[in-house]
Amino acid sequence: MSVQTYEITPSKELKIVKIQRTCVHDGPGIRTTIFFQGCGLRCLWCQNPESQSFTRTPEKLFTVEEILDVVSRDKQYYFSSKGGVTLSGGEPLLQHPDSLVELLKPLKEQGINIAAETTLHTPWENIEKVLPYIDLFLVDFKIIGDEGLHMNFTQQESRRIQNNFQKLLEYKPEIRIRMVMVPGYNDGESSIRSAAEYLLANGFSSIELLKYHSLYEDKAKKLGIKIPLLNISAEKSLESLNRGIELFKNFGVEAFSTDLDSPGHTAEFSQRVWDIQKDIREAGRSLCIEVSKLKTQYYKKNGFKKPTPIHRAERLAHVLKNKSVNIWPKELLVGNFTSKRVGGQVWEEQYGVLDISFLYKINRQKPVAFECTRKERWYFYKHIFPFWLKHSLLRKVNPRLRDLMQVIARSSEMMVGFNNNMAAIAHFIVNFDRISSDARSEAVIFCISTH
Ligand code: SF4
Repeated sequence: MSVQTYEITPSKELKIVKIQRTCVHDGPGIRTTIFFQGCGLRCLWCQNPESQSFTRTPEKLFTVEEILDVVSRDKQYYFSSKGGVTLSGGEPLLQHPDSLVELLKPLKEQGINIAAETTLHTPWENIEKVLPYIDLFLVDFKIIGDEGLHMNFTQQESRRIQNNFQKLLEYKPEIRIRMVMVPGYNDGESSIRSAAEYLLANGFSSIELLKYHSLYEDKAKKLGIKIPLLNISAEKSLESLNRGIELFKNFGVEAFSTDLDSPGHTAEFSQRVWDIQKDIREAGRSLCIEVSKLKTQYYKKNGFKKPTPIHRAERLAHVLKNKSVNIWPKELLVGNFTSKRVGGQVWEEQYGVLDISFLYKINRQKPVAFECTRKERWYFYKHIFPFWLKHSLLRKVNPRLRDLMQVIARSSEMMVGFNNNMAAIAHFIVNFDRISSDARSEAVIFCISTH
């Protein structure tokens, strides 16, 4: 059998894909999960394909201090919820072990619980070095007892994993075994029988099963990472999970899944919600000046003399009465507060006057371009900007015109990445993946997508 080898050369740096706070599925309590970059396996169903490669551009190299700074922010939550920090990935134990120890030592000294989500496909020396600092090993098995399938599913033999597992057992750390149930791949009766027998033979009577999610396919597509598409529906995943629990039970192992325990579990997103998500993601981004136009009209006519709550309420009434209303396909309620499918607003009263410095190139600006017609731009230059040049908040804090012009000129450099229309767009390009995995409520996603 030919074995594809990966060079598991530890880096001198800690390479991190992302650090995610307030996680509740990566070990007990509230946790901060550090997703390290690089993995020696190539699982067909890898949920984090962006973390497989050891050399990703642009690389995110974090110093230990930087990581500590982020993970220490939620210390109180860790203590009150019996949570902590989880090392994940990728394969966290393929990072340079000395650098990892540098990170783990101060965490340990602060009494923070540390879990490691690992496949154990790593040199034993790496595991041995971090062993004294890890409170909980979450060991992810892909398939047990069928070498051919292991090779097919991960492109690696399981020998190293099995050897490390046996050595790890000798140290008697707290270990939880986990397995993603992938319909048609590792959820067959014989696969589960082998896994159950292996667990029992090694003194484990329980296993945590995870539900397969296909969201990574979309993520890989966006990132331009080529992965096999398994075409597994959410219904099949749920079926597989339930069947896996039953089968393990039949073979004497208690299987459980927090995917079933979570309150919103039974709420599956309907196709309509997924279609809306797709449409929003695929729609071009535009700058919408309509609301700004209406607000400006209101103030030009009525001024600011009335008490603030009154003129703001009247302004809102004027906007609501006159704004165009679009109900996009498959939405049940009025869409969003712009007339565009995915539209950023001009926050004329606050900092929208700065738009003047980059509006002319907004269709081609980086990193995010916004469609804005010549007519709309012209309207802004002629009717919106001159009014707010006198009345905006920016003018109030820069009463001298010279100072204000300097601020406007500086904003044209786009050095600080400040762009008001991008702030507005954030309302619409929500993190559906995060919401769907954490909230698991169609109501939540529905409200956001039709807000
Ligand atoms: S071990 Fe985890 S990170 Fe590595 S390829 Fe498999 S699923 Fe992806």
